[in-house]
Amino acid sequence: MQHVWDLVVVGAGPAGSQAARTAAARGLRVLLLDKEEFPRPKTCGGLVSAKACAALGLRLPTALGERRIESVRLVGPDGETAVTRTAPFLGWTVDRAALDAFLVEEAVRAGAEFRPGTAFLSIENAASGHISLRTSRGNLRAYALVGADGSLSSVAGALGQSRGLPAWRTALALSAMLSLPAPRLEEVFNGGRTVNFYCLPLPYAFGWAFPYRERVNLGLGAWSGAGAVLPQLMAGFARQLQLSWGITLQAVEVRGAYLPAGGFVFRPGRGRVLLAGDAAGLVDPFSGEGIYFALRSGKLAAETLAGCLGTPGASPNYAPRLYAAACRRELLGELRLALALAILTGTKRRFFRSISAHPERLELLVQIMTNPRAYRAAFFRAQTLGPPARAG
Ligand SMILES: Cc1cc2nc3c(=O)[nH]c(=O)nc-3n(C[C@H](O)[C@H](O)[C@H](O)COP(=O)(O)OP(=O)(O)OC[C@H]3O[C@@H](n4cnc5c(N)ncnc54)[C@H](O)[C@@H]3O)c2cc1C
Repeated sequence: MQHVWDLVVVGAGPAGSQAARTAAARGLRVLLLDKEEFPRPKTCGGLVSAKACAALGLRLPTALGERRIESVRLVGPDGETAVTRTAPFLGWTVDRAALDAFLVEEAVRAGAEFRPGTAFLSIENAASGHISLRTSRGNLRAYALVGADGSLSSVAGALGQSRGLPAWRTALALSAMLSLPAPRLEEVFNGGRTVNFYCLPLPYAFGWAFPYRERVNLGLGAWSGAGAVLPQLMAGFARQLQLSWGITLQAVEVRGAYLPAGGFVFRPGRGRVLLAGDAAGLVDPFSGEGIYFALRSGKLAAETLAGCLGTPGASPNYAPRLYAAACRRELLGELRLALALAILTGTKRRFFRSISAHPERLELLVQIMTNPRAYRAAFFRAQTLGPPARAG
């Protein structure tokens, strides 16, 4: 008789590893699988916000943190005017391959089994008391499944949902790495402790430059409908930054990936299957942050399933409803307000005008990086204080 796992988690990004670690720590027999061999490269800015660090519930090993971030700088559409705001701790920049490998190790330490190089292919049967699934390395059986397989989720596809979200609900983000010797990097990035965000002339777009030890991660994200112009914009953006830092121009290798904008319809899963992280469409549509939402949703998914599997009479079939309610309470309200802000601020020109006229308003970005209820607090404040004074 084939072994039945309590939980199979598909995808070992932040959402999957966090789900596997949480469920294993609750005593479930957990199998975590990923189609890639680890460590694997991951296209990302690598900024783990302070709220994501707290959601992780683990100390990041010192070797993993590239730079401790303590200030945020917003650069205007002219590429020069900027407003900076400082806080005691805004997060860490990390190499995503290293972060994700560390999170897998922690899941294994908690008792999960990890199978790299194993791709989920399909759900064969979910009608009986368990799920049979087909992978590139044979069939498996489990009482429950978490699909944490990213923005083009095959698990969501197997549930009859579209793989990936429609273009109008998706952002495209491009990123690249540049070498920058530490002394120059520390000059440019205020001691290496500042992350730069750039207001770009595109709808719903942000550019960024994040300091690593001796490299800079730069990139931009925008509504995927503008995808055709992004490579050219990225080339100009990378060139302009290098010129402004006074360094010899480097050829940059640009990588891109889709980001599902959160705040629209949420995909919690169906039957014994829950979706988490990008697979569930949980990325902040204003800032582009996804790691925090992946960690929180992975944990909520595992806790929900552990509760259902461990309670006599409580079937995992109730899990999607319970999980959706937990995500609604904690994450979806924020994502909807973030979406409203993304739509209101459009190309960010007005946003920058408002911030440069009232630099204290940059506190919003500090709050977004540190406070899981940042948007609610900001909207509440705006309602209490009335409409902001007209900018310039
Ligand atoms: C250019 C760019 C920059 C970004 N910068 C930031 C940032 O600085 N900070 C931030 O917070 N967020 C950032 N994000 C968003 C962030 O990267 C994602 O939201 C986050 O990685 C989501 O985590 P996840 O675990 O849901 O999915 P992922 O990290 O995408 O992990 C999914 C895993 O599933 C595996 N997988 C896929 N299909 C299968 C299959 N069929 N079978 C088995 N395994 C499978 C993949 O190999 C992968 O390991 C950025 C995104 C992009 C594109």
